[in-house]
This record gives sequence, structure tokens and C-alpha cells, in this order.
Amino acid sequence: MSQPTVEQFHADALAFLEANAPRKEAEKKFVWGEGADKVSMFEEKDRKSETQDVALACAWRQKKFDAGFGYIFGPEQYGGRGLTAAYSKIYESLEANYEIPNQSCFTIGLGMVAPTIVAHGSDIARETYVRKMYRGEIVGCQLFSEPGAGSDLASLSTKAERDGEEWVITGQKVWTSGAHYSDIGEIIARTDFDMPKHKGLTGFIVDMRAPGVEIRPLRQMTGGASFNEVFFSEVRVRDDHRLGDINNGWNVALTTLMNERAAIGAGSGGGGMFTRVIEMVKYYGLEKDPVVRDALADLIIHNKVAGFNNQRAMDKIKSGQMPGPEMSMAKLAGTANMMRMGDFVSMVLGPKLIADSGEWGTYAWNQLILGTPGGRIAGGSDEVMRNIVAERVLGMPKDPGIDSKSPFNELRK
Ligand SMILES: Cc1cc2nc3c(=O)[nH]c(=O)nc-3n(C[C@H](O)[C@H](O)[C@H](O)COP(=O)(O)OP(=O)(O)OC[C@H]3O[C@@H](n4cnc5c(N)ncnc54)[C@H](O)[C@@H]3O)c2cc1C
Repeated sequence: MSQPTVEQFHADALAFLEANAPRKEAEKKFVWGEGADKVSMFEEKDRKSETQDVALACAWRQKKFDAGFGYIFGPEQYGGRGLTAAYSKIYESLEANYEIPNQSCFTIGLGMVAPTIVAHGSDIARETYVRKMYRGEIVGCQLFSEPGAGSDLASLSTKAERDGEEWVITGQKVWTSGAHYSDIGEIIARTDFDMPKHKGLTGFIVDMRAPGVEIRPLRQMTGGASFNEVFFSEVRVRDDHRLGDINNGWNVALTTLMNERAAIGAGSGGGGMFTRVIEMVKYYGLEKDPVVRDALADLIIHNKVAGFNNQRAMDKIKSGQMPGPEMSMAKLAGTANMMRMGDFVSMVLGPKLIADSGEWGTYAWNQLILGTPGGRIAGGSDEVMRNIVAERVLGMPKDPGIDSKSPFNELRK
């Protein structure tokens, strides 16, 4: 397929969007007290409306994929257009001006699982899943964390045992976002218990509806239940659904985690909430309060700096380079800024944040404040991100790690 010029691509994308989605009322000015009284990090929905929203999200992906905008940077053999990431960015910035169904159900599947299948999957796995994932026919989730393995992921104990051309998986995963509406999951399991812990792991694609998979919701402090525990009881997976070589699962996991940090870092930071925060300050007549002004300036400066770092990382991706430790910085800064915003709002609203008086723009912030700590843990906790930045950006000595004989670990025994 010949490569369109940037101008041609821009015009085609605009024509597609104009024909298929209403334009956002960009000029509509935010007015304090009007519109949805909703500020959150995670969308908390009941299962019924979530199912409807996932269906709408899938229908939109299908439409845009069929028009050539669903997998712009992907290889042609898997339904992509083979264009550079720069074309993708053009489409994304245009699409941001239109009212389209919320696409958050694809964050994990397309942001992390699909790139891992492309990088490590067998030909069969790529042919079976990649096109369908980008076309919104199937949704994917990430089955990494376990009750005994989070930051120290390599300690995981879910096992996969070979049985002819199949593997039999038994164990438990936890904190699996979106498992309940996912069709497939990327799982990392232990295939060799005698090898050093990072070496005996293997990645697979599992069917989330296969016999032996049990998904149980976990309720979080926001009131929603977007996570799950997932139990595997002798679940069978074909060998052609293996990701990468046997016992090379650590590298497979790293591919996914790099993409995860990129997605979280790029996605957080509060962008659209600033208008709301500034209007709140004005509404309560605090724009001249020196303490409030100081904290607001701090909030805006930190967000700008994080934006520049994100831009640098995104430019690297656009030019075809792998996201590196700057994604850890982006993740760290993005989630710290969300916490900063929560602290600022708490300072301004005080008790209004705690008791629901029905006053617009007050109690609703609870959802954001209760949700942001999750961002500091998901995809690598703040402390783990700091270790990465310390070692790989600042060149500091390596973290002794949980298995080392460091005096600290000896003391903990
Ligand atoms: C919103 C959200 C969504 C998630 N979605 C998924 C998902 O879809 N799939 C999935 O597999 N998992 C998911 N997780 C799980 C997430 O990956 C883990 O929670 C995370 O890796 C931390 O692991 P843990 O909870 O076991 O905490 P632990 O690893 O037990 O950490 C406990 C504390 O110890 C600190 N710590 C650990 N190691 C070090 C160290 N070396 N140096 C200093 N401090 C350290 C941590 O920072 C933390 O404060 C999600 C989590 C959240 C919050």
C-alpha cells in the first residue's frame, strides 16, 4: 500500500471523523456548577452499564479500523497500515476533538498486550489475535500480579506444566483490571521451579472463558470493582499460544511493563482538570490568597515539567526508539501530579470533601482522591520507579533487591 502524504492522511482522517462522530463543543466554556459533577481517575460503573460501554467502544474501534485508522502504525500483515507513529499521533490529536465512546477498555489490551504479541507471539498467535484486538473484536487483560508477587514479579508461583502440545496452568492472579470483560489475557507463569526465579518463567495467551478460569471481583475504596482475582485450575493452553521461548518469560514481561509505564505516564497528569481547579479557586474567591496561589503555581509548574518530559519520551517513540527509563520518570511524575492535585483540592475544599452536602463540585472530588493512590502502585510502585530512575538515569548503585544478603534484608528476617 502506498504511503499517503501527511496532508492527505490528515484530510482523510478529518473526513472520516466528520462523517462518523459529532465534534466536541470545544468552545463551550466550562461554567462552575454546570455539567457533570464527576471527577475521577477510574470510571466506576455497574456491570450492566460497563458491558454497554464496552460494546460501544468496540463498535467504534471496528468502524475506525475498517476505515484504516485503527492500527495506523501496525504491520500490514496483521491489519496495520505500516505507517509511522507520527501518523498515529496526527489521528489521535484529531480524534480528541470528537465525541467518541470511551476507549479505556482497550488501554491494557492495545497498550500492552497486543504490542507484546507482535513482539513475542508465534505466527499463529499474531494472526489470530492482533487484527481482532485492533478491530475491537476482542479485549485483552494483563495477568501478572499474584498475592505473593507484585513489585517482585519474578517470585510468581502460578505454574504451567507441559502436556504434549499443550500447557496446563494452575494458580492465582490478583488485581487483574478488566478481567471480567476481557476475552484473552497475557499470563506469565512459572515453567521451571529449579531455575533462578527470573529464568524459569514463560508467557502465554489464555482464553479468559476457558474451562478452569474463575474471575472474582475485588472492590476498591472508590466503591467500584474494576479489579479481579483470577483463579486458574488446570487451564489448558496450546503451545502455539506461548509468548517467546520457554523460560524467557521475563523478557516478555519487560516488553509489556515498558509499554504499561508509557501508557500510564502519558495518560496521567490531570490535563483537563485544571480548568475545573482554577474555576473552583475563583468560585470560592481564593484567587488572591497567597497560600492558594503558591500551591496552584506549584501544581501548574510540576504539570508543565512532566508534560515536557512526556513530550521527549513520545518523540523518542515517534522516531521508532523503544521507550526507556524516561517512561519510569513519566509515570512517577504523572501520578505524583495527580496526588498533588488531590492535595490542592483537599486544601481548598476542606470538610466539604468529606460530607456529601449536595453542593456541586465538592464531594465529587472524592472519587479522584480515593483513586489516585492506585496510580502510584499500578504498573510499578513509586518506590520501584525511583529505583529504576536512580540506577538507569542517575547511575546510582543497584538496589540490593529482596533476595540479596544486604544488612537490611538480614535484619528483616
Ligand atoms: C490500579 C491498579 C491496577 C492494576 N492492574 C493490574 C493488572 O491489570 N494486572 C496485574 O497483573 N496487576 C495489576 N495491578 C497490580 C500491580 O501491578 C501491583 O499492585 C504492583 O506491582 C505492586 O505490587 P504489590 O501490590 O504486590 O505490592 P508490593 O510489591 O508487595 O509492595 C509493597 C510496598 O513495598 C514497596 N517495595 C516493594 N519493593 C521495593 C523495593 N525493591 N524497594 C523499595 N520499596 C519496595 C512498594 O513500593 C510498596 O510500597 C494493578 C494495581 C493497581 C493499583
